[in-house]
Amino acid sequence: MGIVLDNAILADIDPPRVELGSLWIDGGRIVERGKSASRETGDEVVDCGGAVVLPGLVNGHTHLYSALAVGMPPPPRPPENFQEILQLIWWRLDQALDGESIEMSARIGALDALRCGTTTLIDHHASPNCIEGSLDLIEEALAEVGLRGVLCYETTDRHGPAGRASGLEENRRYLEKHYGRPGNQFAGLVGAHASFTLDDETLGQLVGLAADFGTGVHIHVAEDPCDEEDCQERHQQFLIDRLANARLLMAESVFAHCTHLDPEAIARVSQAGLTVAHNPRSNMNNAVGYAPLASFRCPIMLGTDGIGSDMFTEAKCAWFKSRDERAGLTPNHVLAMLANSARRASAALDITLGKLEPAAAADIVITDYRPSTPLTSTNLAGHFLSAMGPQHVRSVVAGGKWALHERVVETCDETNTRSAAHDVAPRLWERMAALPLG
Ligand SMILES: [Zn+2]
Repeated sequence: MGIVLDNAILADIDPPRVELGSLWIDGGRIVERGKSASRETGDEVVDCGGAVVLPGLVNGHTHLYSALAVGMPPPPRPPENFQEILQLIWWRLDQALDGESIEMSARIGALDALRCGTTTLIDHHASPNCIEGSLDLIEEALAEVGLRGVLCYETTDRHGPAGRASGLEENRRYLEKHYGRPGNQFAGLVGAHASFTLDDETLGQLVGLAADFGTGVHIHVAEDPCDEEDCQERHQQFLIDRLANARLLMAESVFAHCTHLDPEAIARVSQAGLTVAHNPRSNMNNAVGYAPLASFRCPIMLGTDGIGSDMFTEAKCAWFKSRDERAGLTPNHVLAMLANSARRASAALDITLGKLEPAAAADIVITDYRPSTPLTSTNLAGHFLSAMGPQHVRSVVAGGKWALHERVVETCDETNTRSAAHDVAPRLWERMAALPLG
């Protein structure tokens, strides 16, 4: 039995296209789009009431493990710079994660994403005291909520050779699990923290692993000036040269942030055709600066870097921050970042995401946004950035099934999950507090 969405303002973002019409969904895919799509006896017909229908949104870079950090006690002392933010907050949180809290973080993060119309997450996971099988726990949680995931484990040399080997092995294990078996719901990338916590040998192993599976490396690059400074000090070379020499500049790679690359480095990143993940709220929160987005010639996608999965708000912040920086972007540039998130995830999952067209995945957001001013293909970005928000997300179809229906989660027991998280989160915070400083 399929679903027919009638009387909808179909709002595509890649490219922006708006028209009143109808969609026929069956077998997890969009079957037909038209003024009045076909239907078969037994199909569920939904009158969208002339409200906007969007493709499921994609979070291009996130850390689901931070979902239980909401409201946690402050760090032992206020961090004074980016490295201290990592040392005093995030590297304590990731060390305190165990299997239970990894899975619960992912469940809560997935529920929050669903309620914002985000149906696919490109995640970057770290849990140095519980590495093996951690990506399976995240996958199970996402599957329970009905979402898609492109997952990787954050390889680092912070915890010595054993920690590095376990991180690489978890990436290999997960890539092998999905290699040659396209289920279109989950896929892997090769995860790496950042140049400043990775040895040369490790960079080689990461790239070798990516080559073995025909995929790319998902790594933080020049998020803060410390990445470049460390590279010049410890390796006597520019960061871009180190990454290039290690062969990380490949089209399949995902570089998160790229906040502090000079024009020559930006040209080389652009030439590689890799995807850059821009995370404006995280960059502001960590006071690390602003990436010169207009200079890049490669795809830039939008991520939240662990601050939930509300892509409406992230897009608004991307827009306002670009204005504040006089970056010269247009609203359509910001919409294109959402399109690029969907394109990168589509490539990894071997399915078309982010489009309301036949054969694309039936990941669809039904809103109750009825525009008060004319909405057209040319001003969709204006409506998206100025008026629309997660409060308009009424129902979500994920993989052809109702995941959220009239604001009620259909795929799992949301109330029980959120109440169970109340037990798991304080225990996680206690373990974190008990860790030695530094
Ligand atoms: Zn990140």
